[in-house]
Amino acid sequence: MKDPVPPLNFEQLVDVFSFISTATAVHVGEDARIEFANQAMLTIWGRGPEVIGKGLEEALPELAGQPFVEMFAKVWREGIIISGKDTPAEILVDGVLDTYYFDFEYRAIKDKNGRVIAVLHTATDVTERYLNRRELEEAGQNKQLLIREQSLNEQLAVVNEELTATNEELHTSREELARMNVELESIVEDRVKELIESEARFRSMADNTDVQIAVRDETGQLIYFNKAWSQLSGRPADQLISKGWYDLIHPDDRQQFLHIHHEAFAQRVSYSAEMRLLGSDGSYHWLLKKGTPRFLADGKFAGYISSCVDITQQKLIEQQLKKMNEELADSNEELAALNEELATTNEELAESNDELLLSEARFRNLIRQAPVAICVIRAEDLTVTDVNDGYLELVGKTREQLEKRLIWEGVAEAAEVYAPVMQRVISTGTAFHGREHELILNRNGVDETMFIDFVYEPVTDLKGKVTSIMVVGNDVTDKVTARKQIENIEERNRLAIEAAEIGTYELNYESQYVIGSKRFNEIFGVSSPALRSEVLAVFHPLDAHLSEQAHAVARKTGKLSYEARILTADEEVKWVRLQGNVHYDSEGKMKKLLGTVMDITALKQIQQQKDDFISIASHELKTPLTGLKASLQLLDRMKANPTALMPRLIEQSNKSMDKISELVEELLNVTRINEGKVILNKKKFNLTDMVDECCSHVLQLGTHELVVEGETDLDITADENRIQQVITNFINNAMKYAPQSRQIFLKIVRAGNEVRVSVRDNGPGIPADKLPHLFERYYRVDPRGIQVSGLGLGLYISADIIERHGGKIGAESVEGEGSTFWFTLPNQEESALN
Ligand code: ADP
Repeated sequence: MKDPVPPLNFEQLVDVFSFISTATAVHVGEDARIEFANQAMLTIWGRGPEVIGKGLEEALPELAGQPFVEMFAKVWREGIIISGKDTPAEILVDGVLDTYYFDFEYRAIKDKNGRVIAVLHTATDVTERYLNRRELEEAGQNKQLLIREQSLNEQLAVVNEELTATNEELHTSREELARMNVELESIVEDRVKELIESEARFRSMADNTDVQIAVRDETGQLIYFNKAWSQLSGRPADQLISKGWYDLIHPDDRQQFLHIHHEAFAQRVSYSAEMRLLGSDGSYHWLLKKGTPRFLADGKFAGYISSCVDITQQKLIEQQLKKMNEELADSNEELAALNEELATTNEELAESNDELLLSEARFRNLIRQAPVAICVIRAEDLTVTDVNDGYLELVGKTREQLEKRLIWEGVAEAAEVYAPVMQRVISTGTAFHGREHELILNRNGVDETMFIDFVYEPVTDLKGKVTSIMVVGNDVTDKVTARKQIENIEERNRLAIEAAEIGTYELNYESQYVIGSKRFNEIFGVSSPALRSEVLAVFHPLDAHLSEQAHAVARKTGKLSYEARILTADEEVKWVRLQGNVHYDSEGKMKKLLGTVMDITALKQIQQQKDDFISIASHELKTPLTGLKASLQLLDRMKANPTALMPRLIEQSNKSMDKISELVEELLNVTRINEGKVILNKKKFNLTDMVDECCSHVLQLGTHELVVEGETDLDITADENRIQQVITNFINNAMKYAPQSRQIFLKIVRAGNEVRVSVRDNGPGIPADKLPHLFERYYRVDPRGIQVSGLGLGLYISADIIERHGGKIGAESVEGEGSTFWFTLPNQEESALN
């Protein structure tokens, strides 16, 4: 038999219980006096065995204000059980007050009578478990945030997809990102799970993740950085803890971040912020930093745990997306504007189309009704598509001949000249304008010459290709004919004016300028346009006033007409006749004068000569007539008693009659010349004999000596009497006008078939400027030379006689040395002379 084991005494029992691993204590009384507390409980309390026997609050004064003492009292009084999980308690362990979390039970232990004899207190320190779970929850929250982020990204991707196909690429990136996020999440989740198990694991997780994780305590003091932080910043964890990392934030982001951080910290709420951080690689990294406040089981703030995710890539994508979105928005706006424009254009096009249809109808109508000839020809095949009646009439064709037919079949007669022209218009697209084209058209079967103004107008499509040619024509035959007539008249007038040597001029009353023709300029010796005063300066001083007088009359009558003398540059006097018509403007004001000027000097001279001639002729006739009259009176008186004087008187009368006959004969000669009644009676005669005969009177008078030189025996064929008349006139003139010249030389020369007769005297001669006029009618070098009788007709008649013989007549003279008058007779062949 074994020795019976003695029952454990109380102390032994207590000692045994003291080794129970579960923290256990036994309390009695309302103040929960500690009757027993095992080592585990004492450890939780952070106290020694000295607490045994003390009331709970006395043993752990820090519990004052906490609910535990009261809970004990309630259990004691009411005999109940109070238990709790994860209940925070502030306990001073090793002099440090800290929050611990417990699962606990206060159980009332009753005796047989149901009276409460003790309160059994068991507790498990679950602080670590609790904190781990909380971290896990926070990580879960972070996950939620990430999920939200992802969903936002997806939304953005959807929007982007809608905006443009180019977003597909970005979408792929986004998917990649999402996948990365999922990966990240799973990593975080995994790591968090591990974390639950232990802080060491947490640390290991935190260090193994590329998410930057940091922890602060409730004072804000940094207490932990994971490896990712050191890698990013290039600072070891202890340096980060002591020095911080704010200085690495991009200056532009720093203020905002610190503000968000401080605000959140003050309110102990979560925050989320983005910022750029200078990495150890020298470049800025975009970080999404999230911070979550940490709370102890009792809700006490314990600081922050934060995570940073590098969102540089995402930011870049975001920026690109933003840029793209902006660009797309711009493009959209542009597209919208373009759309609006297109819509407007469409509307306009629709309107234009309507208008076009309308205008085409109007156009055809217009062609039909146009007062000009119009024909539209298709460029492609030269078929006439439209033609109006005006055109049919112009070309003299029927509608059937032209419409829907080839133009050059319809108007074949014009094809040769105009088909190439039309072809050129089609190929160049440049219109052709024909002015007064003369063409022969077969009009209604008859060839007619017409003058036509026309246009070949190319009609182009929108691309500028010539689709048809519109021919617009106008018959201007009447106009051209009328103009040609006028031109003819004008030409005739011009020729007449030129022939008459009439100058024309236009005087502008306002400007007082005179624009004259070439002849006008010639007459006045001015160059047009000239001021009227310049023209007036040319007037003879004695006639200068005549212009003003005539203009005064013109102002009243509208007609200008006067004659005046002008002085040429070499002081020569010229007579001019000016005539003109005044032209008025619409208000009746004198505007201009169109006038003519004629040099009438010659006319004036002829008039003068005529006047002189009349006075000379009267005088010439008067002398023999007076002689004759006196002789007849004397004869009349002595008819009863004739005296010895009678025969002399009769001879005197006969001489006077001869003189009168001579004068009358001369006048009659002139009349015959004028009337073309001079008939030559040519026959062969001996010139020398004839000279002898007609010069006998020279010898009779005895004042002059006639010296005959040259051919002394020469037969010529001519009108003997007329040639005699010429030679007599030359000799008589020499005697009359060279009375001092004793000798008169008559020379007969034959040169080839020509015979030349000249009469030379040694008289005073004739001024060179008068020489050309000697053979003019009534011309006398000294018209007032009454002392020398003569009508100024002898040389005129002589010239006529010689010219009728086909010969030439002339005079040569040097003043003071004498004169030579000569004539030639042609066709005096040698054979004929013998
Ligand atoms: P008239 O009857 O005056 O002589 P003429 O025709 O014979 O007419 O002559 C014309 C003028 O020519 C004359 O008036 C005279 O002035 C000039 N004349 C003619 N012959 C001579 C001459 N030999 N010497 C100078 N003057 C002459």
